[in-house]
Amino acid sequence: AELRDKQYVWHPFTQMQDWVSRPQKVIAAASGIKLIDTEGIEYYDGVSSLWVNLHGHRKAEIDQAIIDQLGKVAHSTLLGLANIPAAELAEQLVAIAPHGLNKVFYSDDGSTAVEVALKMAFQYWQHKGKPGKQKFIALEQAYHGDTVGTVSVGGIDLFHRVFKPLLFTPVHIPAPSCYHCKLSSDPATCGMQCAVRLEQVLAEHHQEIAGLVIEPLVQAAAGMIMSPPGYLAKVRDISRKYDILFIADEVATGFGRTGKMFACEHEAVAPDMMTLSKGITGGYMPLAATLTTDEIYNAFLGDYAAKKTFYHGHSYTGNPLACAAALANLRIFSEEKVIEGLHCRIDAAAVKLKAIARLEHVGDVRQCGLIVGIELMQDRSRKVPYRWDQAVGANVCEQARRLGLIIRPIGDVVIFMPPLASTVSEIEAMLDIIEYAIRETAE
Ligand code: PMP
Repeated sequence: AELRDKQYVWHPFTQMQDWVSRPQKVIAAASGIKLIDTEGIEYYDGVSSLWVNLHGHRKAEIDQAIIDQLGKVAHSTLLGLANIPAAELAEQLVAIAPHGLNKVFYSDDGSTAVEVALKMAFQYWQHKGKPGKQKFIALEQAYHGDTVGTVSVGGIDLFHRVFKPLLFTPVHIPAPSCYHCKLSSDPATCGMQCAVRLEQVLAEHHQEIAGLVIEPLVQAAAGMIMSPPGYLAKVRDISRKYDILFIADEVATGFGRTGKMFACEHEAVAPDMMTLSKGITGGYMPLAATLTTDEIYNAFLGDYAAKKTFYHGHSYTGNPLACAAALANLRIFSEEKVIEGLHCRIDAAAVKLKAIARLEHVGDVRQCGLIVGIELMQDRSRKVPYRWDQAVGANVCEQARRLGLIIRPIGDVVIFMPPLASTVSEIEAMLDIIEYAIRETAE
């Protein structure tokens, strides 16, 4: 399999094959929170298979839900037809979503969920008679996906730069990154200038702005930048004041990751749109959803000739197998009281992280629920980063892999996102490996 993979498979971010794993490990099976390679070696899945797995692998209830649905129908289109799991899931998502989100538009992955939100927002203002509202505001360092539209609103230069001629241009406002802020690292005294900047932009340009797209609480792919308390509610209020749509991208933060079902709940924020994917099926298969208010949905009603329809629809939209897995995922949340059970796991991680924060080359440790970013620094007192070619983050992760833990670097930020089902002792064991790997590697 290793040879075939090498010869035929084009992996995302090709260069990762060189620096993450030499040679490439081939995963053949999984059990609980462990992945098992073709040689029978077991690894903790410390990034939940790219932040998707929640209840562990081969979770009996989800396996069974998929098998049961296979006995009925694997797929039929949502264009002009309906299916039972998609309808049931939409009802349940609306029931648990922040107040006011009443309609569910399905798509296939996080990128398309955000793409859908951007296109909806764009068309919405045309239907409301404000066609000048065409631009988007996003955060510096934001990541919302890999399609041309979502790369456009993204703020990570590395992904943006090469595609520039293809992209539309958003207005970027500063990321709420206290550790790297040049003004102040204390949000209690800085007046949250990063949010104030949004107000300044909107005061001048709100007639051109369709919406703000934001990852609530945690900018994940930016290296786990975590906004200070109050920031999210503040930018939500400013968006409302200037009549732009507030699009919460909960692709990474949704489904319990932050300690609540959705990150918006931490600050009682009700967005106009919310995008979901990753954990929606418990990490089993691709599915995504863009939730909107009735106000937005109603703007698209009317006769086809009036061109009010939303111009978007995928072949696998509302796939019954994926929706059946998602329904089983939600059942597990309620039957196993998953959210309630997170407190002790989050606290156990926090205790271990305190020790890690004291290590010589650890600049900052950020934790929000079971989302952790450990930022490494050559000189932590003066915040001097390593040279990129030292690849310290990648080396720490490779060392962890040798010790049986899969984690990922984003630059020199070590990312840890274990499945929600990890036990306290598994979380402690994984963080022990991370501590050891940092001690051994970050010199
Ligand atoms: N939005 C956010 C916040 C994400 O973290 C990601 C994926 N890392 C995406 C969108 C894109 O999701 P996908 O990779 O499923 O297309």
